[in-house]
Parts: sequence; C-alpha cells; structure tokens
Amino acid sequence: MTMSIGILGAAGRMGRAIATAAGEAGLAIAGGVDRDGVVSGGPADAVSLAAIADVLIDFSMPDALEANLALAIASGTPILIGTTGLQPEHHAAIDRAAEQVAVLQTANTSLGVNVLRGLVEQAARILGTDWDIEIVEMHHRHKLDSPSGTALLLGASANVGRGAASTTELNRFDRMREGPHAREEGGIYYASLRGGSVAGDHQVVFASEGERIELGHRAESRAIFARGALRGAVWLAGKPAGRYSMADALGFA
Ligand code: NAD
Repeated sequence: MTMSIGILGAAGRMGRAIATAAGEAGLAIAGGVDRDGVVSGGPADAVSLAAIADVLIDFSMPDALEANLALAIASGTPILIGTTGLQPEHHAAIDRAAEQVAVLQTANTSLGVNVLRGLVEQAARILGTDWDIEIVEMHHRHKLDSPSGTALLLGASANVGRGAASTTELNRFDRMREGPHAREEGGIYYASLRGGSVAGDHQVVFASEGERIELGHRAESRAIFARGALRGAVWLAGKPAGRYSMADALGFA
C-alpha cells in the first residue's frame, strides 16, 4: 500500500514543495492543513488528517509546534518537524512528545548539509580552538529566524568536533556580534544575510594565522529539502516512540 503523508503548514513554501516532491516520488498525500484550515483536500480537519496519515510532516512556525505534537500523540502518528527557530522550551516539548510517539526533528533535511555536518565536525576535531570558526548564511528575504537553524546545527557539529557532548542547536559557545566585541577564544560567531530568493547558503570558515578553510553548501532550490523530508518521513513511519535525527534516517548515526 502507498504510504500517505499529512502536511502541516501545507500552504507555505515548503508545504507546497513537499506536495510536489511527493507527487514526483509516487507518495500519496493524505491531506494538508494550514493555519486557516484544510488547503489541499483530504479530511476536513487536522485531527482527522492525523488519524488517516501514516506520517505527518510539519514545516510551519514554532508557535504551531505544541498543537502539532499533540495531534501526533493523540493519533499515534509519527511526525517529522522541519520548522526552525525552535527555542529550548520547544526542544523540551519535543523530548516529552517523543516518549509517546516517534518524532524526527531537524533544522535541515538535505543530504548535502548532513554530509557537511560530518566534515565540519572532523575539521573542528583536528584543528581545535586555535582556529577561529565563523559561520555565514544567506536566505531569501522572507525568512524569519536568524541565525538559521542550519547555521546553528553546523555550529553544534563544530562543537562536537571540539569535544562538547551536546548535539543540540544551542551551544555554550554560540556568539552573535552586536556593537564593539573582542573575539572570544572558542566562540563560534554567526552572520546572517537576508535577501532575494536564496533557498539557503551556508559557509563555515575556519581561520588561523595565515590560512583559512571554507566548507560550504548551497541549496539551489527547496526541492532538496522537500525530497529529504520525504526520505526522513518514509523512514520514520512505523517507528516506535523516540526522538530521531536526520542522521538516523540517512544511516549516518
Ligand atoms: P512559509 O511561511 O512559506 O510557510 C509556513 C506555513 O505555515 C504558512 O503557510 C503558515 O500559514 C503556516 N502555519 C502557521 N501557523 C500554522 C499552524 N498553527 N498550523 C498549520 N500551519 C501553520 O515558510 P517556509 O519557507 O515554508 O518554512 C517553514 C519553516 O520550515 C520555517 O521555520 C523554515 O525555516 C523551515 N525550513 C526548514 C527546512 C529544513 O530542511 N528543516 C528547510 C526550509 C525551511
């Protein structure tokens, strides 16, 4: 039987990209809901949608997270969360939900960025804190959160390479520059550019006396995130309760 997907945030840029990619991949759409209700066929409300979908995919807003997790728990339907801008309280809510249902949360579903995370971790491990780390990202003019969830994810990978235990998106060494600021040793600094239609560029710069390494990724369209989300969702369907990552879904973990 074809797997069917419920899309939360279905009217958004990612919601629409996921519907297109699902059609291309031969996956069925159980339906889609947005803030204002049903947008793409299927059952009349989110609760009924969650009950018939094999898996839910949420690319909406942090404010919607709690309700979307509650939907997944009530129906026992696994949920992939791609929404970014999540705060510690959102991560705590995901941890609690994952005790009852399968949840895959990731700030980046693309294969390329997940490979880049491994390269950044390896470089940071070898180079140590003698090499400064700066992370530069650019996104389209509509993006709300900054730095991007992916930039924070890459910072987390660098921290893991430097020996930190945590793989969460918020690191002890994360620094934003505002006004005069002497660079702190071990700090990981972020710069965010916003404009035009850029799907997502990330560059991790390792800078030392006299040399630099630049590791980067450029998303040429949202289709890569949509395809990655579907790959993650197909992997997640039928999984027992627990919190999963994109690395689990891609077999990197
Ligand atoms: P968007 O603004 O185009 O779409 C978001 C949609 O969610 C909107 O249609 C909005 O009406 C809807 N929404 C808001 N509240 C809702 C609610 N309570 N219930 C249902 N729908 C609700 O944004 P986008 O570009 O599609 O991005 C969505 C999110 O995904 C952002 O947080 C973005 O940063 C993130 N994102 C993640 C990845 C990834 O790989 N994980 C890739 C791209 C974007």
